[in-house]
Amino acid sequence: MFQNVSDQNLLNKVKEYRSKEKYYTSKILEHLQEIENRKVYCDLGYSSLFRYCLEELTYSEAEASVRVNAIRLIKAVPSVKSKIDQGELKLSQAAQVQRFFNENKSVNKKKVIAEVCGKTFRETKKILDEKSGRVRTKSITLNERLLKKLEFVMDDFDCEELEAIEALLDAHIERKKSEKLHRVERGSKKQRYISRKVKEAVYVSAHGRCEFVSSQGKRCSCRTNLQYDHIKPVAYGGKSTTENLRLLCFNHNQRAWIKNHSG
Ligand SMILES: [Zn+2]
Repeated sequence: MFQNVSDQNLLNKVKEYRSKEKYYTSKILEHLQEIENRKVYCDLGYSSLFRYCLEELTYSEAEASVRVNAIRLIKAVPSVKSKIDQGELKLSQAAQVQRFFNENKSVNKKKVIAEVCGKTFRETKKILDEKSGRVRTKSITLNERLLKKLEFVMDDFDCEELEAIEALLDAHIERKKSEKLHRVERGSKKQRYISRKVKEAVYVSAHGRCEFVSSQGKRCSCRTNLQYDHIKPVAYGGKSTTENLRLLCFNHNQRAWIKNHSG
């Protein structure tokens, strides 16, 4: 294949391909962003953009995670996109920064981004580690059984150990909050109330898994953040019965909402 290709040509060609690679990376990010906005992957039976990147676009877990996190960063700070396109901020760095923002909500995002621009992965890690400088740390040792469970959660939430634990805690706190809200609502919106017995029946018949099935027959595999969805909406007289309820993951519930409200 390369017999008649000169050294110079070889070097030129690879540069040309590299520049095309950058162009396509940029285009893919833009499209993934819009796919995330519309949650189009839901229709194919995926519970998240991460799952879609992994299974449909055949990225590795690390590649998918980097892209999903980069997109979240671009969404939070749109000016990041041009920095990525111009190579000032590498994709892997964008993901690093986004993970840092997940843990450190109150930092000046633009300032942090400016600081890590043009730095290497390791330099970026050092800067971010210094910034987070958590004082209250506690190390725990996990046995094999807990580790297995944690790996399962990490896979589901597309994140690392600490983030997975935090995600679980967040889910628990959210659930507590919504239970409180629910108790307040119950008096005025009786129709929306779902009895424990009905909830259990719906959960069991769904095998604790999101019930969305794509038109190609792919069922969503999500088992976390599940919500009870009225098939016929309460607003249209739908009842809180086992027949009218189904279990959906957060994103499939959201996607249904987006579709209902975009005409
Ligand atoms: Zn789902």
